[in-house]
Amino acid sequence: MFKLKYLIRKSTVITLLSCVALSTVPCHAGENPLKVVATQTMYSSVVKEIGKDRVDVKYVAPPKFNVHFIQPKPTDVRNITKADLYVDAGLDLEAWSDSLLEAAGKPEFFRGREKNVDMSKGIRLLEVPDHQLSRAEGDIHIYGNPHYNMNPENVKIMAENVLEKLKSIDPANASYYEANEKAFISRLNEKITEWKKLCANCAGQEILSYHKDIAYFADFLGLKAEQYIEPKPGIPPTPKHLEFLEEYVKANHIKAIVMPTYYPKDAAEVLAKRVGAKVVTICQNIGELPGTDDIFSFFDYNFNQISEALK
Ligand SMILES: [Zn+2]
Repeated sequence: MFKLKYLIRKSTVITLLSCVALSTVPCHAGENPLKVVATQTMYSSVVKEIGKDRVDVKYVAPPKFNVHFIQPKPTDVRNITKADLYVDAGLDLEAWSDSLLEAAGKPEFFRGREKNVDMSKGIRLLEVPDHQLSRAEGDIHIYGNPHYNMNPENVKIMAENVLEKLKSIDPANASYYEANEKAFISRLNEKITEWKKLCANCAGQEILSYHKDIAYFADFLGLKAEQYIEPKPGIPPTPKHLEFLEEYVKANHIKAIVMPTYYPKDAAEVLAKRVGAKVVTICQNIGELPGTDDIFSFFDYNFNQISEALK
């Protein structure tokens, strides 16, 4: 009996010492990973970068659809019911999220609660309205522009939000998460320098965007974006608005009309033809197009697209 107890104690001590010595290796790598559901692929990718094999991550919004208007499926409800943590955009980007959490019966996943990561925490918001807007009147972006994932500098803030929450719910593996975050940020910083260099030709130029989802992308590159094909976020263009844009694009020598894959292209293509501009695809989320399957290839694709269009 004594011998058995001694052996158990000895093996526990050895395990603990191994964890201390190899502080970047999780004590239970791959065993019972934390189940995380993220609303979007950008967030699930950030969680995976920090949690690696300590997390099993799923996402709700398929990247080939407009994230404002997703219809979650019964499998999303089931995934959330089983999850340990929920990650969302905050603000009003995912108006479908609250009813999804209600259906799953997970009050601890609501914003501000202990098992929620609000990725907008700490982000410097752009286009915050100077007067109160109302969803009841069809307005979206009522708290400011929620498309902050388009600037890689903001990905660093998202990574910090994820790190803090993983450490608080799984403190035994805090040093593992910290080491992963450090390596990720270091690679991201190198790529940011590369992207700035690639897009040096963009600074000061003006683009036209379909939806108001380009502010943070434009801010990162020093681009100007003041007019949109949608006269108001979520509202399709009228013939009168398109006439105005035709004059505006000509007068301001705009070379590129940018849009993701999921908006109708007709209006942009007709306008581009009339004014001699190009329609450029800029992805809004990871996996929207083949070859944009992780954070780095997503930004590589977008920055190559805009740099090429504005040469
Ligand atoms: Zn939007």
